[in-house]
Amino acid sequence: MQNEVSLQSKSRLQDYEPIVGRSCIEELRMLSEQLAGRIVQNINSTFVGGGVAEILEHMVPLLNQLGVDARWDVIRGSDEFFEVTKKFHNALHGNAEKISKQDFALFSEVTQQNLEEVRFYGDILFVHDPQPVGLIARKKEIGRKWVWRCHIDVSNPDRKVWKFLRGFVVDYDAAVFSAPSFAQQLPIRQFMITPSIDPLSDKNRELDSGTIDAVLAGYGLTSDKPMIVQISRFDRLKDPLGVIEAFEMVKKSIDCQLVLAGGTATDDPESEEVLDEVRKRAEGNHDIHILLVPPESNVEINALQRAATIIMQKSLKEGFGLTISEALWKAKPVVAGAVGGIPLQIRNKLTGLLCHTVEGAAYALRQLLSNPEYARQLGQNGKEHVRQNFLITSHLKDYMLMFIALDQPSDIIHL
Ligand code: UDP
Repeated sequence: MQNEVSLQSKSRLQDYEPIVGRSCIEELRMLSEQLAGRIVQNINSTFVGGGVAEILEHMVPLLNQLGVDARWDVIRGSDEFFEVTKKFHNALHGNAEKISKQDFALFSEVTQQNLEEVRFYGDILFVHDPQPVGLIARKKEIGRKWVWRCHIDVSNPDRKVWKFLRGFVVDYDAAVFSAPSFAQQLPIRQFMITPSIDPLSDKNRELDSGTIDAVLAGYGLTSDKPMIVQISRFDRLKDPLGVIEAFEMVKKSIDCQLVLAGGTATDDPESEEVLDEVRKRAEGNHDIHILLVPPESNVEINALQRAATIIMQKSLKEGFGLTISEALWKAKPVVAGAVGGIPLQIRNKLTGLLCHTVEGAAYALRQLLSNPEYARQLGQNGKEHVRQNFLITSHLKDYMLMFIALDQPSDIIHL
């Protein structure tokens, strides 16, 4: 079954020039010429929800504008399959998970179905995350270049799950990880490429105060007291309960409010359960606002981030954490867990504050709430850090260099 999505970008490549400079755009055009006539086929497991879908939605149309024929397909899977892959996801992040023989068998069964249903037409098959990793079985027959893009923090994976997935990964031509600490012992080439945000998307573009106020009013929020905001899928690894605990500690001495906003992803079956836990935990506290935001609520999320006094991302594990770059791009002070790809974005005390515990998070929040000038400076530094490193233009450049490098012998090219 062919699931190719058709995407229209609202932004034109030249619109990025005032943000990143003309030479950056010229460089992208030059690189794209070397990929003319090749099809880059992205394959993942969902069109909506989570960071991978967020990136592809903007990346694919921009590659198309550059003349690179990039396309995007998703695999299909039952709820049970996504329950298994969610367990894989958690286990790769290092969490203890009970994964049975039947789980592995179901993974293989759904992979087999997708091998029959997906149409493989790309010159470069760019496969994202564990769900579709088994599609590599088709390489023996059709050849082409295959890249596995891992968006997960696999620095300390559950050995059993990693061994299983590694059996597929070793057949790829290359693997891409988001941080140097995630690199693995693999006989194939590995690239370190950080994800990115699109500064011109509805999620990140400038908003006028009227739009922000309207969104706040729509959610029944007022900005009469400092607002701490965490935007995340309702997932235990985002530690929403830890955020509430830290907030309650701060609230004892500083009057403020907390907004936990997020939705669910079609490939994340746990979120309803976590949302229930969070709602129960917050019950009775009128300064805690739990918002269930539907997919495509980009302007709403943008407005909530812009309305925030402080943004939190108190993750316990995190591949990268796009929400952090989103917050920093809006020059917001951020308090975030010192895990996974987060420290690439938050240089402690320079572009934000890192925390290791609930108490640490509460301490950081108090520091920022009682010193607005310090908070402002961290936000400003953060914005420049994102401009230099985590905008979609850098990401396009890295991907195109990687695609080009796939044609070169691995002992010559080192990115
Ligand atoms: N996001 C969203 N709606 C939600 C929760 C998150 O659009 O309800 C967005 C968020 O703004 C970010 C992405 O989804 O762009 C989440 O990426 P991140 O890397 O932070 O986490 P992931 O969900 O991939 O673990």
